[in-house]
Amino acid sequence: MSKIFGIDLGTTFSCIAYVDEYGKPVVVPNRENSPVTPSVVFFENADNVSVGEIAKQALQSEPDLVCSTIKRQMGSQEFTFLVGDKEYKPEEVSALILGKLAKDASEKLGEPVENVVITCPAYFGLDEREATKKAGQIAGLNVLSIINEPTAAAISYGLDVQTQQTVMVYDLGGGTFDVTIIKVADNVIEVVATGGDHHLGGKDWDNAVRDFFIDEYCRENGTSREDVASDFELMADLEVKSEQAKVQLSERESTKMKANGYRVEISREQFESLTSNLLESTIQKTHETMAEAKRKGVDAYDKILLVGGSTRMPQVMKRLQAEFPSMTIEYCDPDAAVAKGAAIFGVNMAAFPERAEGEVSENAPVVSEETQKAAEEIARTWGIGSGQGAMVIKNVISKSIALQLVDPNDGVEKLFNFIFKNTTIPHTETLRAGTIVDNQTQVHLAIFENDYAAGAVPNDVVPVEDAKELTNGDMGPLPSGLPKGTLIEIDLKIDDQGLLSIDARHPDSGVTKHLEVKLQNVMSEEQLEQAKEQFKGISIL
Ligand code: AMP
Repeated sequence: MSKIFGIDLGTTFSCIAYVDEYGKPVVVPNRENSPVTPSVVFFENADNVSVGEIAKQALQSEPDLVCSTIKRQMGSQEFTFLVGDKEYKPEEVSALILGKLAKDASEKLGEPVENVVITCPAYFGLDEREATKKAGQIAGLNVLSIINEPTAAAISYGLDVQTQQTVMVYDLGGGTFDVTIIKVADNVIEVVATGGDHHLGGKDWDNAVRDFFIDEYCRENGTSREDVASDFELMADLEVKSEQAKVQLSERESTKMKANGYRVEISREQFESLTSNLLESTIQKTHETMAEAKRKGVDAYDKILLVGGSTRMPQVMKRLQAEFPSMTIEYCDPDAAVAKGAAIFGVNMAAFPERAEGEVSENAPVVSEETQKAAEEIARTWGIGSGQGAMVIKNVISKSIALQLVDPNDGVEKLFNFIFKNTTIPHTETLRAGTIVDNQTQVHLAIFENDYAAGAVPNDVVPVEDAKELTNGDMGPLPSGLPKGTLIEIDLKIDDQGLLSIDARHPDSGVTKHLEVKLQNVMSEEQLEQAKEQFKGISIL
């Protein structure tokens, strides 16, 4: 039996780790000897792809053949990346990234990479999680579990899961910002609330620098922004140099760059002023998420953990310290924390399957002596596992759930939110509603999801245009002659994986209706098998 690996499948970078026999999480560097691999795929031709640094470089010369930030498309069945006449779904592109990590790690360690725990953002819904799992399966991996990135980061930070504490994970990556509030007690790691902005990340800071460079260039050369924008080579160079300048400004007070023969300088002060609106937006989102946690009774924090490459910008720590002067704020190995935490979780759940709960798959492997030893060491050093039971991860739903009902006050059909985002799962909510006319024989049930938190709109009535219908169906026929206002009971259930089902009943007659929300945007089994076959034919560099 081989080791258990944790994989951080990131928007911009990915990383793979395992736990050694001393219980220490270790990152496996890639073939190029880097601990992280850019999540970029270059389709040289149908049979050969490069993943990582080479692919990132090819972005400049052959952008049409390079696919980056695929994570943003996970769970979407509309997106395909077209290479010649071949179409690649997000799961297939992600599988190539996972394939590169697994192949390189397997070469380095001299053993196959099979059993993995893959991480995803806390806000990922079921479709996105399932797509992540499918990506692993296409790559030929046994996906033991998909766990949340902030939870993994908190685990790797060395949370003593026996001690009650509340931690906020502030994760500013390349393309996303996530803030997650986690409560830990008695071996249970519970996500209390999660929020953020899925379209805000280091790339936006890069763009601010790029726009500054363009303005400077235009001023000096008397050209227009349009002229610069149409100079493809200059733009590509500016893109690269902007990120480099940003990274340098984390260490220096100012930096000089040369793009296409043109020199430009930017100071940290200028950079921070150009990007302060972006940083403020993360502070606002942080407060919104804290308000959600407060609604659930959490309003004291032991620690803020900083995760994600962009937290290396000094402005982040400075701003957070100013905003939360009484809190302890610490860096959490931005590159490797998530993969390491996933590896620890994997070892723990595999070693103590009889006690594991929550996000654990049925296909847990038989563990090797080495893995068992690693688990015992983790248990000994961090109190996770043996004797106390495996750690349990509890999650929340990332969307609110509304039901379509007629408002008795005005007779108008509206969407009422009943289960709110950030509710801990599993969860069941029972509501009672009356029929709307005499002799009603059918009851129409329609369930919607949306982003409105509790109390965000008056009476929790959600605008129809902001909601997505998940499922609908009719209950009936009910016995004839029932008066208006006849009681109907509806159970809305969310299981520990986040799957929603509805059970409606008319208690007097025993008429019932069961509805389940199916995953909508995932590959079919047939597509999965085809994708696995195609994957086997591709050589990954
Ligand atoms: P992640 O998605 O967590 O790997 O973060 C990637 C982002 O972190 C990219 O936008 C990088 O440009 C950014 N990043 C990495 N190192 C630094 C640094 N030293 N200073 C500023 N940003 C950085």
